[in-house]
Amino acid sequence: MNNEYFYKMLLDHIDDGIYFVDSQRKISFWNKGAKRITGFSASEVLESFCFNNILNHINEDGVELCKNGCPLHKTLADGKTRDAAVYLHHKQGHRVPVTIHVVPIKEGEKIIGAVEIFNDNLKKHEIIKNMERLKHLAMYDQLTALPNRRYIDTFLASKMNEYLSLGIPFGVAMIDIDKFKNFNDTYGHDAGDEVLKMISNVFKELVRSSDLIGRWGGEEFIGVFVGIDDNNLYDIVEKIRMLVEMSSLRNYNETLKVTISIGATLAQKEDTIEQLVKRADELLYKSKSSGRNCITMG
Ligand code: GH3
Ligand code: MG
Ligand code: MG
Repeated sequence: MNNEYFYKMLLDHIDDGIYFVDSQRKISFWNKGAKRITGFSASEVLESFCFNNILNHINEDGVELCKNGCPLHKTLADGKTRDAAVYLHHKQGHRVPVTIHVVPIKEGEKIIGAVEIFNDNLKKHEIIKNMERLKHLAMYDQLTALPNRRYIDTFLASKMNEYLSLGIPFGVAMIDIDKFKNFNDTYGHDAGDEVLKMISNVFKELVRSSDLIGRWGGEEFIGVFVGIDDNNLYDIVEKIRMLVEMSSLRNYNETLKVTISIGATLAQKEDTIEQLVKRADELLYKSKSSGRNCITMG
């Protein structure tokens, strides 16, 4: 198999539309993806010029690019790679939104043609992007970008199921910032928000992919740690406590720091999620009454 045949065959197996033009913009290659997206087969377009009203790209504003501002033409002139969002003309007459990518073909320094790669995933991309955004809005807290309460609830339910059905243990830690009202009163609510973000970054850096630390509400967070025993749970929450204590933020001439108190407990078979969270909360309360910036296990 000669090289050219091999590469053309490969290109036929790509979903994207791909075509080559020579320096006169005469089409010399047209893959199956191009046929799928445009409706034109290779035999209909090969040897014709791309400006002969075949794809007749228009931009978002309806400007016909073949006449003015054809990306292929520009790339043939300056050898630069280009991307654009355009609407091409389908054989059946309608317009198809695609993103195009134009690359020069060079022999040494000489530009001898160009390749245009186009894909029609634009709409699909946008839908997926929107869905991701909505999912993010529904599952993550706006201020800190940590999992929100809804996400935590779902996560806890699934970990409880795994514990009951597969015996994978897990622990829960209730985390609360110490004297945060005082902090806000002293430095202002905006500085308080910055500290919430800082602490959230501490959590994000620390959390393993199997675990979760989310914002339960206000200045309260919950950590869920999977596959651990009492000792591991202690080690993890102690590290969290220490790293928060040792983190700080510069705000004008001040150094902003806070501490956290934690209540941590392992899930028991007879627990409901509510009981489990309540137990962690009561343990947290003990940390508060023992002077804060500490951990109570139970
Ligand atoms: P303790 O050590 O007992 O937890 O004292 P505390 O002051 O932290 O407890 P309290 O529950 O009385 O106050 C919580 C404070 O957290 C009050 C509220 O203004 C602040 N807070 C809650 N959510 C936010 C937020 O999103 N941003 C800011 N800046 N502050 C918040
Ligand atoms: Mg609180
Ligand atoms: Mg607090």
